[in-house]
Amino acid sequence: MTPLDEARSFVVGLGSKLGSVEVPVAEADGLVLVEDVVASELVPGDDNAAMDGWGLRSADATEPGATLRVVGRQMAGVADPGLTVGPGEAVRIMTGAPIPAGVDAVEMVERTSVSDGNDRNEAVTFELSVPVGQFIRRAGEDVSPGQRVLPAGTRLTPAAIGVAVSVGRRRVTVVRRPRVGVVSTGDELVTEDRPLRTGELRDSNRPGLLAAVARMGAEAVDLGRVPDDEALIEAALLRGAEDCDLVLSSGGVSMGDADLVKVILARLGDMRWMQVAIKPAKPLAAGTVGSTPVVGLPGNPVSSHVSFMLFAAPLIARLAGRNDPILRLRATLVDGLAGRPAAEVNGRVDERTHFTRVLVESDDEGVWTARSAGGQGSHQLSTMALANGLATQPGGVAIEPGAEATILMLP
Ligand code: AMP
Ligand code: MG
Repeated sequence: MTPLDEARSFVVGLGSKLGSVEVPVAEADGLVLVEDVVASELVPGDDNAAMDGWGLRSADATEPGATLRVVGRQMAGVADPGLTVGPGEAVRIMTGAPIPAGVDAVEMVERTSVSDGNDRNEAVTFELSVPVGQFIRRAGEDVSPGQRVLPAGTRLTPAAIGVAVSVGRRRVTVVRRPRVGVVSTGDELVTEDRPLRTGELRDSNRPGLLAAVARMGAEAVDLGRVPDDEALIEAALLRGAEDCDLVLSSGGVSMGDADLVKVILARLGDMRWMQVAIKPAKPLAAGTVGSTPVVGLPGNPVSSHVSFMLFAAPLIARLAGRNDPILRLRATLVDGLAGRPAAEVNGRVDERTHFTRVLVESDDEGVWTARSAGGQGSHQLSTMALANGLATQPGGVAIEPGAEATILMLP
């Protein structure tokens, strides 16, 4: 059997970072920058008020209780060029508004009162003294011109999109979004909306895997379902390899008579067929057709998702220039996890890592706990749907109630 790390390195090594493309900033969430974003403007562009309140000369309010004459109002937006604040005067000012001439401090409205409760009235009284510079945001305090606000290699987040736009960028150069094709194989699979006949089942892997691809921020390409026919599977794989950056197939990689994917992959290109030391998702075929990586995921519904997470997700991340996307954490198994009956086979210890579907929760203090999501058969997709993580059970050995395990969170 192939150790998990070795299998994963092999699969991830089939791909490399894709080329770059220029896109509108607003469409770049989750993509990886291949250029530095350097500011060409000050942010903020001008000195402005940090609070709704009053602009004044702090020399006029060195003691609590100062009362000043109101001479105008400055809203956020365009500066009023005629507005100048002299000694003994104050101006009503809103958060983000430019600082009028003469003003060197702002006081928040909550610590003031106006003579008749109307801010357009003549006088405003300050409860406290007001130090110079109070509640004024200085021009360039966030970003100055020439500053590298986002280095190449940054994966764009919502805040990063905001930063890029705030320094005047409308487009950014990023690693291209991978196109990932998904094809399902199997004579027994039904795609139409009709009752099943004996022996048939619905093609649930393909929509599930397409959704998993989309969650990874890749472009999901539906390559359809093909029967267990060598020529048809071959045509679908070739078409996918031509059109996509990565092809994922479901089914046809185990030891059955109709397991043609591995046969075809071996014929079309470089391919490695592995029995990975994990449960579920032991069989895996991975290689290249032309220069396109192809990963043959097992057909068992749970196995296909586990395989996707362990092998396809890190490969998609590699193509996109990202790190392994799977979050790992330690959690307490409140009720423990049962040992697997297969933990010892013919007296030989099971060398596989078992992945157990669990429901992980965190309390208000950030302490993580986990519980089994239910039945763990590789055909029992319903418990995969209830789970949000996979607990690792080396050798399938039981985990005692209250003991910890490493959990891989589903993307
Ligand atoms: P295979 O890997 O092709 O031998 O399939 C293993 C098991 O997974 C069989 O019980 C298949 O019927 C089932 N299976 C294969 N492909 C799919 C699919 N696309 N959706 C749901 N179940 C599948
Ligand atoms: Mg099959």
